[in-house]
Amino acid sequence: MAEFKDDRVRLVPRLKNQGYRREQVAQRRTWVEEQSGASLPHIGAFSVASDDMRGNIENLVGVAQVPLGIAGPLRVRGEHADGIFYLPLATTEGALVRSYERGMVALTRAGGAEARIYADSNRVSPIFTCTGVAEALLFSRRVDDRFPEIRAAAEATTRHGKLLAVECLPVGRRVIVDFSFFTGDAQGMNMIVKAADAACRFILDQIGGEQHLIFSGYNSEKRASGSLLRGGKGKKVVAGAKLSRTVVERVLRTTPEAMVDMWTQTVLGHLTAGSLGYNGHFANGLTALFIACAQDVANVANAAVGITHFELTSGGDLYASVTLPSLTVATVGGGTQLGTGQECLRMLGCGEAGSAPKLAEIIAAALLAGELSMGAAIASGQFVAAHESLGRNRPALESDEE
Ligand code: NAP
Repeated sequence: MAEFKDDRVRLVPRLKNQGYRREQVAQRRTWVEEQSGASLPHIGAFSVASDDMRGNIENLVGVAQVPLGIAGPLRVRGEHADGIFYLPLATTEGALVRSYERGMVALTRAGGAEARIYADSNRVSPIFTCTGVAEALLFSRRVDDRFPEIRAAAEATTRHGKLLAVECLPVGRRVIVDFSFFTGDAQGMNMIVKAADAACRFILDQIGGEQHLIFSGYNSEKRASGSLLRGGKGKKVVAGAKLSRTVVERVLRTTPEAMVDMWTQTVLGHLTAGSLGYNGHFANGLTALFIACAQDVANVANAAVGITHFELTSGGDLYASVTLPSLTVATVGGGTQLGTGQECLRMLGCGEAGSAPKLAEIIAAALLAGELSMGAAIASGQFVAAHESLGRNRPALESDEE
């Protein structure tokens, strides 16, 4: 097909210095209003200084506003997060905040959710080409042997990043080299791609390999894969709680037995679908929290791969847990310092450096609340009724409580 050309089709205006000044942003917005015929007053109404968005967005025209609700109280008993929290959830899905809130109240009445982090790293997995299978094995052995020098090359590019391990995975004459980094409070992809690239150059110069690509696809950044269940992309965090029969009956309006039966039946559905892991709706809470707290929302694709488990204890109570092997969260870098995101992080006491593990434990406990509430709604047959009464096009009829 011939190359498409039409002089009336224009590129979006770049403007001087990429156009981050407020009047330049308005100029670009006017341009798109003229192009589209749509007027954009809400997009143009923002409070963050437009220059502060440099590095987070290009071709800036304004902001996308998402409603923000608060759910809590949620008692968390973690190693990093210990206390009562009220969580910001940004969503347009009616019933979501109320549902998470119910699970949080149940957990808090049960004494709180324990949360623990098992591992904390992020990875980049370049792929190298060798001349043949024999050379690929030699290459892999040399990479293992020279880890200290590879680490030095990588860590020369960053103050906070630490190279924890390198693992070689052969595929024919190619070798995927999986770099695992500790990234401090940052999600770390910018940091560790730069560090891994420096290490790759050292490998090509000093160790071997004909060429490399910086991404092989193995690291499962922003994609679901079975390898995420093992961990290694973000924080591996687990939250769990024992809920007495009384709390399950009074707050969740069901029984421990009905919850476990619901879990067993829906595991069958997940197995039939060939799902990766098992959970009711991690993606709901993750997306709402990620938007509110200025996390990279596309990381929901990897972070939502995990396992929810409901069990009956010997005393007839419910033990509920969530396991999140690949939760990528940050309190530094990305959009975390911008306007509403920074405010929401501060609301959780996570506005400072050093608080990424705290944020991870709070998020894990919040997801546990969401799993309990949704599980209870399904077990008790209330799921449809709750959405009917709280959904956007079916306003609640009962009067609001004071
Ligand atoms: P970043 O915005 O590049 O900021 C991270 C930097 O903050 C670090 O490199 C570090 O500098 C500095 N820093 C200061 N205090 C820190 C602390 N307490 N802990 C850790 N670092 C600290 O963000 P990033 O986390 O590296 O990358 C996340 C962003 O990358 C997201 O916005 C995501 O969209 C984007 N992303 C990039 C790629 C890619 O391939 N480049 C892929 C996916 C996503 P030092 O390094 O000097 O220590």
